[in-house]
Amino acid sequence: MRGRNLTRMALGMLLLACCVRLAAGADATVTRTPAGNGNGAAARLPPPPPGMFVPPGRAITHVKGDVYRANNGGWYVGILDTPEGLLLVDTLSVPFATWLKDELAKKFPGKPVKYVVLSHSHWDHTEGGKVFADTAKFIAQEGFLRNMDGRYPALPGDIVDRNSDGYLDVPEFEQPSQLRPWYCGAGGNTVSSKDRNGDGRASPEEFFADTPRPDIVYASRMTLRFGGKTIDLVFPGKNHANDGTAVLFRDERVLFTVDFPADALVQGSMRSLPSACGPFDGHSMDEWIKSYRTLESLDFDISVGGHGTAPFTKQDLAEGRLFMEYLKREVEGAMSRGMTLEQMKKTLMLEPYREWRHYEQLREWNIQAAYDNLKTYK
Ligand SMILES: [Zn+2]
Repeated sequence: MRGRNLTRMALGMLLLACCVRLAAGADATVTRTPAGNGNGAAARLPPPPPGMFVPPGRAITHVKGDVYRANNGGWYVGILDTPEGLLLVDTLSVPFATWLKDELAKKFPGKPVKYVVLSHSHWDHTEGGKVFADTAKFIAQEGFLRNMDGRYPALPGDIVDRNSDGYLDVPEFEQPSQLRPWYCGAGGNTVSSKDRNGDGRASPEEFFADTPRPDIVYASRMTLRFGGKTIDLVFPGKNHANDGTAVLFRDERVLFTVDFPADALVQGSMRSLPSACGPFDGHSMDEWIKSYRTLESLDFDISVGGHGTAPFTKQDLAEGRLFMEYLKREVEGAMSRGMTLEQMKKTLMLEPYREWRHYEQLREWNIQAAYDNLKTYK
């Protein structure tokens, strides 16, 4: 049974990375064989290491006060219940959103979804909004619109427009996963399933067909008062994405974030090395560190979000920043001593983080990402 599920996931889903893991079971039903070449890569992948991802399953769970989460395996959305209706953070996918709408009607009868906050423009978190479009307004950071403007968008997992043709091609999604299976890249059918005109690739417009266009955007901060609640939307800076929104449910003192600081590798603890695809998703380490500090400056007691099975504390977030600062210092120091990247990989053991999850698999990749990052963003 398990093997079958894994095969379905390997064939049908994102291979993931920073955010793009296979929405564990999520859309595992999407098993159509992608068109075009290069697709065989997904099928050739070895199974993910045991326990790497949260098992499939869907449920609505209580977080605190009027805040809830609903999950699709290891992918979560946020829910705020108010007397005037519901606010969601993300909708994940059309199949999940369809399921969610039914469940919300049972759990919160007579309460329409009035707002959907889109955490960032990566498809594995924000597709499916159209299911709620009859009642909801969509809110995002303004960079979200830029990513939907018809050009090749900013994507996670080292997925970039390698051939500079402006289209999202199957090899561009699969190549990073061939190098680093289950950590970077995504399954080819992430692209081919969106290829509506059958030309073997997805235009940016085709790619965003299931992602709602925001009705309301903001630049750095926005405060929403709704149903007696106060909700702050905060752009922390560029990190995993360039259009991220952290949602602070002020009354509950709950912070909801997606993919930053907890990427899809995070489960019960934030002590997990970043997937570190490409040069840290194309944003300088200083921007990452600044983003951590922005979140740490907010007034909250617990943090939950798009990944992570447990609530985290401000101290957990601080540990992520301390890791990034440590890594930057170590690699900068080695560069100033004239060490080569290969020498760094052999000698920088990131000793304080030996017990963190994925240390064995990601220590060298984090060194490489930091090295590339520091060379790129001076
Ligand atoms: Zn993401």
